[in-house]
Amino acid sequence: MIAEEAPGIFSVPHSAAEGRNVIALGEESAIAIDVGTHPEEGGQMADFIRARGYQPNRVIITHGHRDHILGGEVFRGVDVFAPRKTVGEIRRQIPGLAKQMGLAEDVIRRRVLHPTITFDDQLWIDLGDRQLHLFPTPGHSPDIVSVYISDCRLLVASDTVVTGIAPAIFHSSVELEASINRLKQLEIETLISGHGPALHGQAVVQDWLNWLTTYISGVRSAVAGMIAEGERDREAILASIGYDEYIGDRLPKNKHGMPKRHRNAVAKIADEEMATRCYDWA
Ligand SMILES: [Zn+2]
Repeated sequence: MIAEEAPGIFSVPHSAAEGRNVIALGEESAIAIDVGTHPEEGGQMADFIRARGYQPNRVIITHGHRDHILGGEVFRGVDVFAPRKTVGEIRRQIPGLAKQMGLAEDVIRRRVLHPTITFDDQLWIDLGDRQLHLFPTPGHSPDIVSVYISDCRLLVASDTVVTGIAPAIFHSSVELEASINRLKQLEIETLISGHGPALHGQAVVQDWLNWLTTYISGVRSAVAGMIAEGERDREAILASIGYDEYIGDRLPKNKHGMPKRHRNAVAKIADEEMATRCYDWA
């Protein structure tokens, strides 16, 4: 169900792990933020924008992952804002996506919503009475941006802050932790996550951001301790950083393959720590 999370800002559910796209309405124009995986997911967003009396002619892509770029058929030909790095990320991912989905690379290339307006660091987009501030929050991926809408103190955090799954770390846990720490400096009344429920209230938002950084740094220091004691068995490290101790009841264990998501996060951090020390797994 499409939900109004703040005046004129809507979260739009999509099929990938409690995914959330966003629509922001302003005095002069509307904009879609991410488009989901399937054409009907982007289509639903365009229909909603039209039903509110706007043209669906602007889209932001927060980063180049499949569940943010493949549902945009309906937006072909409109202004698509994205970080410049996302162009490279999309190009890098097309062969893998083609394999995963059993389709030709050309088919995937045609289905992807390609950026038309790129930027290197930050970008402000004006909707008339409201400004969207796009800025880098790397870690989940190298290219990802968050979007801050100051008039309602709302953050579209995309996959930098997930609330319904364990953190997915494809790029760097150190950068992800630093990005989340920077987000703590913002006044955030409402946070719309890329996967999981929106958070309302500054205390609730801060509590979740604190939990995420505690999780990441806690896993890292446990891993680092074992490596320092000479542990070189990757499996032994993964087995000892248990789900119940590190995630507990913060997330529902029986949904979205959560134990595996926790294990993937631990594995990423363990590999990073070993690489930092120039050690090899046994
Ligand atoms: Zn992602």
